Amino acid sequence: MCPSKKIRNTAQRRVILEELQKSESHPTAGELYEIVRRRLVDISLGTVYRNLVLLSDMGIIQKLDLGGSEARFDGNPEQHYHVECIECGRVNNLPDLPIEQSVKNFKGTDDFKITSHRLVFYGLCSQCQKKEMEK
Ligand SMILES: [Zn+2]
Ligand SMILES: [Zn+2]
Repeated sequence: MCPSKKIRNTAQRRVILEELQKSESHPTAGELYEIVRRRLVDISLGTVYRNLVLLSDMGIIQKLDLGGSEARFDGNPEQHYHVECIECGRVNNLPDLPIEQSVKNFKGTDDFKITSHRLVFYGLCSQCQKKEMEK
């Protein structure tokens, strides 16, 4: 790879990471692409997606597989829990979940070495609750 291309790739990845870490909304690759495009006009959705997967493989961000059709990305790589809106798909963090400590201390069973787990809450976000009321 020629050096100028390498520098450009690194710069792109930095912008993608910055914008993801700024975002509270756990965007999909497409949503983040719309934001990143304002700073990097010639970037493609494929480049954004590839960089997001790369960053999550490196453990810098998290790829969230919440059961929706599209993967969402989280700038916070630490284990934490989420609530997803069943109407619009918006994802929020759930801080201070009471079971968090017990899950952390759970060692698994004799048969299995636990490598990961998934716990997602579902509900209606405040905006969708308002819309329901107006119906
Ligand atoms: Zn909603
Ligand atoms: Zn999160």
